[in-house]
Amino acid sequence: MKNIRNFCIIAHIDHGKSTLADRLLEFTKTVTHREMQAQLLDDMDLERERGITIKSHAIQMDYLLDGEQYTLNLIDTPGHVDFSYEVSRSIAACEGALLLVDAAQGIEAQTISNLYLAINHDLVIIPVLNKIDLPGAMPEEVKDQIVDLIGCDREEIIHASGKEGIGIEEILYAIVHRVPAPKGDPDAPLQALIFDSVFNSYRGIEVIFRIKNGSVRKGDRVKFMATGKEYFADEIGTLRLQKQPKEVVECGDVGYLISGIKVAREVKVGDTFTHIHRPSPTMIRGFEEVKPMVFAGIYPVETSEYEDLRDAMEKLQLNDAALVWEPETSAALGFGFRCGFLGMLHMEIVQERLEREFDMTVITTVPSVQFNVINSKGELMRVSAPSEMPDPNFIGSIEEPFINAQIISKSEYVGAIMTLCMDKRGMLKNQIYLTADRVELQFSMPLAEVVFDFFDRLKTISRGYASLDYELSGYQESDMVKLDIMLNGDRVDALSAIVHRTKAYEWGKKLCEKLRELIPRQMFEIAIQAAIGQKVIARETVKAMRKDVLAKCYGGDISRKRKLLDKQKKGKKRMRQVGNVEIPQEAFMAVLKIN
Ligand code: GDP
Ligand code: MG
Repeated sequence: MKNIRNFCIIAHIDHGKSTLADRLLEFTKTVTHREMQAQLLDDMDLERERGITIKSHAIQMDYLLDGEQYTLNLIDTPGHVDFSYEVSRSIAACEGALLLVDAAQGIEAQTISNLYLAINHDLVIIPVLNKIDLPGAMPEEVKDQIVDLIGCDREEIIHASGKEGIGIEEILYAIVHRVPAPKGDPDAPLQALIFDSVFNSYRGIEVIFRIKNGSVRKGDRVKFMATGKEYFADEIGTLRLQKQPKEVVECGDVGYLISGIKVAREVKVGDTFTHIHRPSPTMIRGFEEVKPMVFAGIYPVETSEYEDLRDAMEKLQLNDAALVWEPETSAALGFGFRCGFLGMLHMEIVQERLEREFDMTVITTVPSVQFNVINSKGELMRVSAPSEMPDPNFIGSIEEPFINAQIISKSEYVGAIMTLCMDKRGMLKNQIYLTADRVELQFSMPLAEVVFDFFDRLKTISRGYASLDYELSGYQESDMVKLDIMLNGDRVDALSAIVHRTKAYEWGKKLCEKLRELIPRQMFEIAIQAAIGQKVIARETVKAMRKDVLAKCYGGDISRKRKLLDKQKKGKKRMRQVGNVEIPQEAFMAVLKIN
């Protein structure tokens, strides 16, 4: 145990975590030259395509230093604010963290928030100045920032480049010498913290854990403390590039367990498992509860796939502990699920994973934050779907969630950022010059204005030189109204939105225009109307389709006709019939595309 080191890599997105992880794996010969590919740990297709880390990934390395053999467990973590829950769980399994800062970018918002997560868990921080090979690197300036932020000595900061392989040996040396070995009592009753899990259709659920006390042997009978379920440890081992089965996983180590668990609900990330014989009386302090920020409905395109979708959601939840959901019905869409996400990127990823990993075709409805509605009887209702909003006559008041937003940027963009934030109903709380050229701005803003397109707009106006982090600060009373959308006179609950009254007219108008673009022509005319209560505030029309697309094939050969029909069928993916109108997925997201 004295030769085990558990550490994670934390940083702002794109500061080079995954690339540095590659170099560490290479240097320690954990992967052969043949197996090596860039951002090796980002093994999900989605991660590779988007070039971002979504999941934390654990991998074990051997390292020989001064004649001692060390076991290093590395956990690579995502940097995007939507996935900070992944980061906080990884941190709970570690004693140390490499804090990477891009030498050309300097400290960004998630550098700070991830650092605080690590400090809260008493992790030893090893500061690394990364990407020093870049021509635009400003090592002295960024080192000043790091010293300011964590109060370390300048000499503690390691110069590195994941790309060029600079500083790798020094980092490994620092991990061995600065990160403490795991504490814990190898002879105490077993306590293993489950910090991740994966559904495997052949072998059942794989549980990833970190042992705090005791040890576990292959074949042991173990009990998951939160669920009370008991299993045999059919296979245990450590995580290399492939899983490496072992007879025993020791105190302090990170490993996996397979015991033929088929039911997703039986595994809870954050749970502790222990032995049936000589059980531990206490669980390990789990993780803070996830606070979803954005809610939306997820519905199967084919209503008959509701049960399959439930099954898929349960399996996905195993691997995405930040996803929360419950059943919901919509007048327009039928049976589906109300889901809570950490942000829009998280929502997008969930939708894509359902489609890719579970072969589901789903519709996601208009996203919303959660409002507190105090009804006329003085009762508090939590409303996260416009359809749950009571009739205006029964509403006493509505409170909406507010956040403290922290934006770091260059001083030349301060004016543009202020304008954007004011437009989003934000209030400037504080302005701190980090250096002559870098400013930290703190705003109080409604969450609803930030979760949707705010970040993209911030990036645009600052030419990429702004980073954002935020936390919920509480609820404040706001003048919100429900904006209904009607198609041919029928209200479509899945298209309505809750918006601030000052913006309702503009939104209604723009939303109708956008929907007109997005809803394809059909055999009949479609009237699109926006209404507040009984009052219609905007109207657009989708003209009827004039020509039968098949007409061109009249008399033509049948295979061509069939191809065309097939093409139409494919085009139908992600469309839902509401009443007699076909609505494509993009229409449900139209609200996000106005401005
Ligand atoms: P992550 O989001 O923190 O995991 O960052 P990645 O490892 O995915 O790297 C983000 C981008 O920076 C990629 O395009 C990398 O090729 C690039 N990059 C990573 N490390 C270095 C480095 O040391 N020097 C340079 N010049 N580029 C790097
Ligand atoms: Mg990464």
